[in-house]
Amino acid sequence: MRCRLCRNTAVYEAERFCKEHFIKYYEKKVEKAVILSRIKSKKVLVTVSGGKDSSALALVLAKHKEEYKLDIELLYLHLGIGEYSNHGMEVCKKLAKQLDIKLNVLSLKDVYSKTIDDFKNEKICSSCGAIKRYLMNKFAFDNNFDFVATGHNLDDEAAFVMHNIFNRNVDQLSRTGMVTKTIRENKLIGRVKPLYYLTEKENMLYCILNNVNFYNEECKNASGNQQIKNKEILYKLADSRDKKLSIVKTIDKLKKNSEVKEWVPSYCPKCGFPTTKGICKFCRTIAG
Ligand code: SF4
Ligand code: ZN
Ligand code: ZN
Repeated sequence: MRCRLCRNTAVYEAERFCKEHFIKYYEKKVEKAVILSRIKSKKVLVTVSGGKDSSALALVLAKHKEEYKLDIELLYLHLGIGEYSNHGMEVCKKLAKQLDIKLNVLSLKDVYSKTIDDFKNEKICSSCGAIKRYLMNKFAFDNNFDFVATGHNLDDEAAFVMHNIFNRNVDQLSRTGMVTKTIRENKLIGRVKPLYYLTEKENMLYCILNNVNFYNEECKNASGNQQIKNKEILYKLADSRDKKLSIVKTIDKLKKNSEVKEWVPSYCPKCGFPTTKGICKFCRTIAG
């Protein structure tokens, strides 16, 4: 198959692009997400796991570092999930070296004397997710970052929307989107998702074509992960990029046309960070 723009050999068959035109297409999608102009001249913490999505994210932001005057650092959360966490950390160290960006490693064991392996409950992924979100925000707040960038992609977003529609969870649906505001006085650092319009497959190809290492290993707790189950449903119902995009864009449009209640946080009496009410989930989980 030939590239639809230059007739060289196509490496991305779904859109018929050669290597050069795929990379241009990919980077244009990141710019189209309007994220780069929103984070111009800002201090951005890029969370990395060693997987394809966050590695692609670190790479695309590193490539645009000069043009958008980005002050970027990487963060790896070492959660203590057996060898999986050690492998992830090693891949992130190599990535940081390759991109010449500072890597911060935060170990749950070192700071809170706990690991995810210590939690034996059935909802281990829910605890793990709450811990990750809390630590990302706290690290960014404590170190004066303006934004946290995550590797969430089109598949993640479309699966999240579908799951919440099936569960009539309107509050969660209102929290979708590619950017949230930073409200420093509320100890809340905004999140940006530069890969919002890119699929998992596209992120993987972007890493491969740019010779960036990533690892494909699955966490041993993945069978209980709701997000992975949501994606399995998504792939049955929305098998193309266009269908996933329609799901995400429909919700974005609905949100634009409706009044979204501003979340007014209360503060955790133990750690002082925002929570919906009472002691925050992080403090409850860590104490449990
Ligand atoms: Fe955490 Fe669950 Fe993901 Fe493993 S599968 S990293 S426990 S959220
Ligand atoms: Zn081409
Ligand atoms: Zn707390």
